[in-house]
Amino acid sequence: MQLTMKFGGTSVGSAAAIRRTVELVGQQVDEGHQVVVVVSAMGIRPVKVTDLLLQGAHAAVADDAEKPREIAALLRQVHQEAIAGVVEEGELRQALLAEIDAFVRRFSDLCGAVRVLGELTPRALDAIAGMGEQMAARIVAAALQTTGRPAAAVDATALIVTDAGFQDATPLVEETASHIEATLPPLLAANTIPVVTGFIAATPDGITTTLGRGGSDYTAALLGRALASDEVWIWTDVDGVMSADPRLVPEAHTIRALTYREVGELAYYGARVLHPRTIRPCVEAGIPLRIKNTFHPENPGTLIVADGSPVAGNGAMKAVTAIGNQSLISLEGNGMLGIPGIAARTFSAVARQGVNVLLISQASSEQSICFSVPGSSATTVIGALEDEFAGEFRRRDMDRVWALEPVAIVTVVGAGMRGTPGIAGRLFSALGNAGINIIAIAQGSSECSISLVVDEADTRDAVQEIHNLLQVVPAR
Ligand code: ADP
Ligand code: ASP
Ligand code: MG
Repeated sequence: MQLTMKFGGTSVGSAAAIRRTVELVGQQVDEGHQVVVVVSAMGIRPVKVTDLLLQGAHAAVADDAEKPREIAALLRQVHQEAIAGVVEEGELRQALLAEIDAFVRRFSDLCGAVRVLGELTPRALDAIAGMGEQMAARIVAAALQTTGRPAAAVDATALIVTDAGFQDATPLVEETASHIEATLPPLLAANTIPVVTGFIAATPDGITTTLGRGGSDYTAALLGRALASDEVWIWTDVDGVMSADPRLVPEAHTIRALTYREVGELAYYGARVLHPRTIRPCVEAGIPLRIKNTFHPENPGTLIVADGSPVAGNGAMKAVTAIGNQSLISLEGNGMLGIPGIAARTFSAVARQGVNVLLISQASSEQSICFSVPGSSATTVIGALEDEFAGEFRRRDMDRVWALEPVAIVTVVGAGMRGTPGIAGRLFSALGNAGINIIAIAQGSSECSISLVVDEADTRDAVQEIHNLLQVVPAR
């Protein structure tokens, strides 16, 4: 089999974790599989290297020289400690230490430049944010070599070509495929394990971009598609996709199998275990996706299969997830009744601001439109709508546009919900009995999810109450 295996932050977060990762890769190679490895930046909970890099950049633009210095020292220390634990003393270690040192110096230089300019562009942020993966890939490749397995760190800037949408760039499929085909198969043919940086990519001009936070999962899916991998495995620090974030609901259980659509909805509505864009390349290429725990590899984890596959079972409600820090924007007015084009104008105006609408909810009358946007975008969106409908406001056809915040979107997912009557009623009663007010409700377009908007302060309770329901609503 040809396997693309991605190891998340905690899976490379310490020397011990890296040794485990190397062992897991080695096992698959020993079983005769061809393995392409993708790694995230080191994540030493609660500190993630990517967060540190970004904090340094933000401190620099605020004219703070001290913070980037502290972060540089911490970056050096964390990576040096990992190296000391996985690579024996000698030439390889020295070369690796020098490389890490060069990255940390580059981080300091970039922060210095940002501080002098007093400006932090999305492009500079990506150049800084991507260094965590570059350092981790080099360490993991060296760790593999130390165990006698030929390996080479590969920067995905040479593989994944994207547009210039810094911080959340979109891959150009054909260019990416040809770069990958030119680079990885020759390494594999020489029995060298490629260790590819997750998260980062580059524009056709070679300028570093990133695929959005958590984007290393997406990198693995892109490589999997281009290489026609038999499977893509995502190694993380939990036993697969669970019925809820185990940090919110300690009794959450692992779901053995989910469909692409179900996991897509979960990821889109906040389940951090998988980057939402990971699904599409896998669906397109028909590649099964597995989520497994680096620290409990014996656990089968979760298998993601084709929509409608009987393997995924048909449990009505399978999982619940939440995404916080949202604003619910309402556009209201008597004069909106029956006037065509209001919704189209509303969402075009929002889209022009580049803001992502996570949920649209229909009000009981036609006198308002209501949708959610990330809290940080609320002011921009309200301004854009005031401009768009300036005439309507003047004529009093529209009364106001306002934001209710902070709210959270709590989403319950399960393809079997479609054919199970009374799900919404059960959700309402469960939350009602717990004294949680439901502000709005929306059904996912794929009909395998229902989202509820609640006060952000009610998030944990709402997730817990719905999770209690998952146990009692039987599978069909
Ligand atoms: P990695 O660095 O391995 O990609 P992440 O932190 O990005 O790790 O994702 C794994 C985390 O996702 C878990 O530790 C868990 O807290 C969180 N998570 C959120 N929702 C879920 C869910 N439904 N199932 C499993 N994990 C979840
Ligand atoms: N290191 C990146 C992040 O923290 C990408 C990833 O973890 O997948 O967002
Ligand atoms: Mg992740």
